[in-house]
Amino acid sequence: MKLGNLVKDQWVEGSGDGTLLTSAVSGKPVAAISSEGLDFADMLHHARSVGGANLRRYTFHERGEMLKALAKYLMEHKKEFYALSTETGATRSDSWIDIDGGISTLFVFSGKGRREMPNDHVYLDGPPEYLSRNGTFVAQHICTPKLGAAVHINAFNFPCWGMLEKLAPTLLAGVPAIVKPASSTAYLTELMVRRILDSGILPDGALQLICGSVGDLFDHLNCQDTIAFTGSKNTAEFLQQHPRVVSESVAFTAETDSLNASILGPDAVPGTPEFELYIREVTREMTSKAGQKCTAIRRIIAPASIAGDVVTALSTALGEIRIGNPASKEVDMGALASPGQRDEVRGRVNELSHQAEIVYGGKDEFELVDADADKGCFFMPTLLHCEKPLTSKAVHSVEAFGPVSTVLPYENLDEAIELSRLGEGSLAGSIITNDNAVARELILGTAPYHGRMLVINRHCADESTGHGSPLPHLVHGGPGRAGGGEEMGGVRGVLHYMQRTAVQGSPETLTAIGNRWIRGSDQKRADVHPFRKTFEQIGVGDTLHTDEREITLDDIQHFADFTGDRFYAHTDEEAAARNPFFEGRVAHGYLIVSFAAGLFVDPDFGPVLANYGVDDLRFAKPVNYGDTLKVRLTCKQKTLRTGTGYGEVRWDTEVTNQDDEVVAQYDVLTMVATDEHWASVQ
Ligand code: NAP
Repeated sequence: MKLGNLVKDQWVEGSGDGTLLTSAVSGKPVAAISSEGLDFADMLHHARSVGGANLRRYTFHERGEMLKALAKYLMEHKKEFYALSTETGATRSDSWIDIDGGISTLFVFSGKGRREMPNDHVYLDGPPEYLSRNGTFVAQHICTPKLGAAVHINAFNFPCWGMLEKLAPTLLAGVPAIVKPASSTAYLTELMVRRILDSGILPDGALQLICGSVGDLFDHLNCQDTIAFTGSKNTAEFLQQHPRVVSESVAFTAETDSLNASILGPDAVPGTPEFELYIREVTREMTSKAGQKCTAIRRIIAPASIAGDVVTALSTALGEIRIGNPASKEVDMGALASPGQRDEVRGRVNELSHQAEIVYGGKDEFELVDADADKGCFFMPTLLHCEKPLTSKAVHSVEAFGPVSTVLPYENLDEAIELSRLGEGSLAGSIITNDNAVARELILGTAPYHGRMLVINRHCADESTGHGSPLPHLVHGGPGRAGGGEEMGGVRGVLHYMQRTAVQGSPETLTAIGNRWIRGSDQKRADVHPFRKTFEQIGVGDTLHTDEREITLDDIQHFADFTGDRFYAHTDEEAAARNPFFEGRVAHGYLIVSFAAGLFVDPDFGPVLANYGVDDLRFAKPVNYGDTLKVRLTCKQKTLRTGTGYGEVRWDTEVTNQDDEVVAQYDVLTMVATDEHWASVQ
């Protein structure tokens, strides 16, 4: 029954009897938990010396592949996770958020890593900065994986997602993790970690697990370690002040409490689709996961004139929620995660009731489906109404982490904004309105207090992911009470586990460091046309200088007639001259780009498979008829698409005129066959 700790790639039981963990539904023992006797300093050492070293051998793309393989493996075992998840009080749809939601986070980060990061060991953050007159001294921000361990401390409500949403960006960054789930639901995290270990996909040391207290772990942290914490504000504050965290400036990200608000727009009166949407959204947020979601709607900010309608409609909707055994298909809402949690929510409702009236729920006795009220941690959805929300502090500061929410009436938009801000920082906020002017005013007024905001109306509701769903693509975190941290948000979330360094030097040096050609760096003249080379044969810096071509008036007229682009600047000498930028008819930008391609391509069948676009196209100077153009094409960056038979090659392209003035600049993007693929098609 005792949960394992994953220590240095071995399962180790903590000493002693441990603390008993019970089912949230039946009250029966599920497991015992103990981390007593673990050598936490040694775990950190193992993570840094074995896990980090192993992970850093792989490129971002290879680690992305690892995440995908892991996601697929966990998908195959999800039945087991669902079965055990019921003991936490979760219904099937609650478990879906936790289990499928967590696994899909791995998939998304895998895709982001392979599409948006290089197939390399260093990530280049932004373009180079040109710092000197002659271009011999430049700078580039780079990100490299931190050399420490990422300590993940998670809350009890999402034992799978909570782990995976932190693990995905951490592993993608190339950093090993030590995961500490909240005790009450740690048995589900432990099961998932067992399956992760069974998969054999992660290298040694990449993942360790502590079930129970973290002991003296914090005493051994150093400046290369990071802490990502999810839980209550009090615990975050306590841990953030740990002397070692302070003295070593250990990076600390906190996701904490949040009194998230949802504002009903003044236009969304009863009878409109938005009013219906609001009632549905609030009901779902209050009851999914039995309200134990850090993003759940706690404050229902509604126009005073229809606050009564909101209370009535919500009370009716909440009355239809069937509470009970989460394993039963008839049940909409399961149990809170533990008896302690239920006591705490009761206490918080009591506190709130001094400033707000309970208008629905709040009873100890209520109907249950297939469950015993004395054994399970069930709690009735409870709605409060606060008449004077601007002067009632508790409704903006007391978080009842369960199916509890308070209606706060407002008189005008300024008041709605003020009420929202009184939450002093939230993870998520939402606005339900079909009036885009209202949406803009409310967003501009409240966004500085939020990490994520959602505007729902009849046009997007069907496809909306909902108020309470953090997404791997989007930032999760919020200011103030929400902890001031930020997780996920695509590649942003990966960079939290990396060190950003501004590297200054010559263009050649920075090209060699970043594997991305920087203007001013040596151009290696290609001995053969670069389009005759395979992916492996092309070198960063390989350059082609083309012949020249004159642009005639006939060319411009022909292009205008052929494409139908008869914009006056290309076809009307007099009108063009009245334009402040031109002296007369000029060449179309797309004609320049087309002629450039005519100058640089090698037409014969070869390893270049396709041109899939251009980036950053700029026309720097007008091209008049009679001008002569030539092109410099330089291999800027190569990205191997492992297993596909090709790689992407980005070409820095510069079109100049007879006076060597740049008239157009852009990156040409091509797909180029690998040696193996090229050999197979010849
Ligand atoms: P908690 O009591 O603060 O616990 C959070 C985590 O911290 C648990 O893993 C807990 O482990 C650990 N912990 C507690 N004391 C510690 C210490 N001295 N040293 C190291 N670790 C320690 O919060 P909770 O009750 O589990 O979670 C509910 C709260 O989390 C709510 O307030 C909710 O708003 C917030 N939450 C926020 C988010 C978010 O994304 N922002 C998500 C979910 C929940 P033990 O369980 O072993 O004590």
